Amino acid sequence: SRDSFSTATFRDFLLKPELTRALVDCGFEQPSEVQQNCLPYSIYGTDTLCQANSGTGKTTAFVISTLQQLHPTDGEVSTIVLCDTSTLADQIKGEYTRLGKYLPKIRIGVFDGKTSLAADEKVLKDKALCPHIAVGVPARFKNLIALGQLIAENIKHIVLDECDKIMDDDGMRLNVYDIFKKIPQAKQVLMFAAAIDVQLRNRCKKLMHHPQEVFVDDDDAADRTLHHSFRQYYVNLTEQGKIQKLGNLLYELEFNQVCIFVKSSDRAERLDKILQEDCLPSTSDHSQLTQGTRISRFKDFKEFKKRIVVSTDTLSRCVDVSRVNVVINYDFPQNADTYFNRVGRAGRFGTKGIAISFVSSDDNRAVLQNVQDRFSITIPEMPANVQPYSQ
Ligand code: ADP
Ligand code: MG
Repeated sequence: SRDSFSTATFRDFLLKPELTRALVDCGFEQPSEVQQNCLPYSIYGTDTLCQANSGTGKTTAFVISTLQQLHPTDGEVSTIVLCDTSTLADQIKGEYTRLGKYLPKIRIGVFDGKTSLAADEKVLKDKALCPHIAVGVPARFKNLIALGQLIAENIKHIVLDECDKIMDDDGMRLNVYDIFKKIPQAKQVLMFAAAIDVQLRNRCKKLMHHPQEVFVDDDDAADRTLHHSFRQYYVNLTEQGKIQKLGNLLYELEFNQVCIFVKSSDRAERLDKILQEDCLPSTSDHSQLTQGTRISRFKDFKEFKKRIVVSTDTLSRCVDVSRVNVVINYDFPQNADTYFNRVGRAGRFGTKGIAISFVSSDDNRAVLQNVQDRFSITIPEMPANVQPYSQ
């Protein structure tokens, strides 16, 4: 219910103190909706099948669940996490490292098929190196298990992240079946995806034992998120007045990190450049950049080297928005969904903040009205002296 969404905290789950501390360090104040629904089962060993939109905290949910349950034995891999790409494997490892920082005895390894089988074997055979949690692609795990390099009997938890991508791919699915044939009957299975259709649900459930199914309804989530989100305001101005107004806002607001949304890659580049010329710690993200550039920029933002990101609606979910406390719609979104995606995501984790929308045309005003009707919220004109943290 809405009440439990607004009141449950990570403390309610009685996690290991090391884990609670790391969550505090990350600035995670409140479990996201999917975490609220998953964790009561997944941290106690129940199989869980979970569907929720991207960026809602699914990966974090299983990282918390597996770290919470892990009793590391050196030389034994007891948790394996399957994912479809090595990029995702690295991201998952990163989340384990972040949340496991006060659990120094726990080691995480990546087996994404980029190293040789011999190199993997060396790591797995060495008690001082062998990870307790192994993240990687199905094909490599299947081979390591078949060769006896990874001892299937030791596996107590298996996770399929983005299980749709894995199970909808014929090759990866067969590898998954091979892995499941070898690992013990008594184990926990956790599966996560942004979209789960009937066929996928059946396939997944066949590999699970009385799973708890968590489906975070999109509309419901949208509705709840905007209600528990940042305080939202609009500013009436002309197109020509935008840059001046933005400058004033960035000067007045006590921001931690800011997302500024514009309607095209060109505008993102230009605005970013203007802000940088004003010595503001700005960067940009849009579809015209190479993947490498985007990743290094996400990293700068995550590491707080940049505090402003100017973006189009491509702003990737790689961007850690948990410290963003100001969202500015420099160009008003084309429709209510886009508004939700921009504003809802930043506010999803209980951070206090504000979202300010520039409104400069009748079209903008119509969409603003639409947003208010659709999500039953009132977005007032921005008063003077508002701060992200004020009530
Ligand atoms: P998903 O797997 O559903 O796409 P993630 O688990 O990757 O979502 O989370 C998206 C982003 O939100 C990540 O940067 C993650 O660190 C952050 N995050 C996850 N849970 C929380 C939380 N409870 N509070 C704040 N930030 C969170
Ligand atoms: Mg994820």
